[in-house]
Amino acid sequence: MLGFVTTSIYKSVAESRVNKIDINGKSLVTPCYFPAVSSCVTTYSTSDLLKFLGQHSRPLLTSAYDLYTESLGGIPIEKQLEELSANVILLDSGRYESSWFNDTDWTFERYREVVQQALSDFYMSFDVFPGDAQDHFEQETISHIRQSIAVRSEDVCIPVLHMTTHDTLFSMLETITTDGVKLVALPERELGDTILERCSNLYEVRQFLDSRSPDVLIHILGCGHPVSLLLYIYAGADTFDSLDWQKFVIDPSDLSFRDYSHLFLTNCHCRYCSNDALPYVHRVYLHNLLFIKQFLNDIILSIKDDTFESFLKRYVSPPVLGGMS
Ligand SMILES: [Zn+2]
Repeated sequence: MLGFVTTSIYKSVAESRVNKIDINGKSLVTPCYFPAVSSCVTTYSTSDLLKFLGQHSRPLLTSAYDLYTESLGGIPIEKQLEELSANVILLDSGRYESSWFNDTDWTFERYREVVQQALSDFYMSFDVFPGDAQDHFEQETISHIRQSIAVRSEDVCIPVLHMTTHDTLFSMLETITTDGVKLVALPERELGDTILERCSNLYEVRQFLDSRSPDVLIHILGCGHPVSLLLYIYAGADTFDSLDWQKFVIDPSDLSFRDYSHLFLTNCHCRYCSNDALPYVHRVYLHNLLFIKQFLNDIILSIKDDTFESFLKRYVSPPVLGGMS
């Protein structure tokens, strides 16, 4: 299996950047969005939704927990993602689902079994939630990251760092950047209560990495709001995932999230909104995926042309950006 290679392509204002990821003969240009599939939200089977998604988005995220659950129904783990070999697959640890379903049987051993067998390009570490480890949170997190890396390799394992305190986060970053990882993942909500705090913490993480391991990319977990994507890209984030593309309708006119039922109120004329033959649910999914893809392409072009700041100011007032340029 080929390793994970990152190439810097462009940089612009603040920490905005465009990189190219080459992995397993496939490539992605960042910033990019991994639409996520999870048994916590879908009314479809996760395998059907993954097949649908695989046709419409190159990057995608699925959960180790859901692959394990499907395997109990008789489909071997190594077979489940076979049809998606042309996609770039990010495997989540399954801690989100096991916590959601209160399943205490989701152990590291089961996670290891799935990570070893699933046809994914990269995978998240088995994360430790702050409430699970109390005083030993930092040691437990680092220990689980190292055990997760050992399942495959530091090239393709993405450490998930939950933020309890500012100092703990930076201490963990210091430790894991010496382990040769290529990407770190931060849960969006833990970066702060307000978008200002989140951007400021993220910007600081990016600067910290720039001073030690500038090739390390930052993944933001659970983020799909277009305005947040814009601001986090400005602060130095590279990749994102979320379930939002299934839950809301993105309004292209003002980048807001609307209720799932509001697609026709957006007056969008994209090729999916104008296709009466499509079931409503598919129109919502495809409208959202197309919008995010085009929006990120526009951001990439503006970083290339060094016009990202004026692009951003169309949607966000300048005070938000203070201290990050
Ligand atoms: Zn549309």
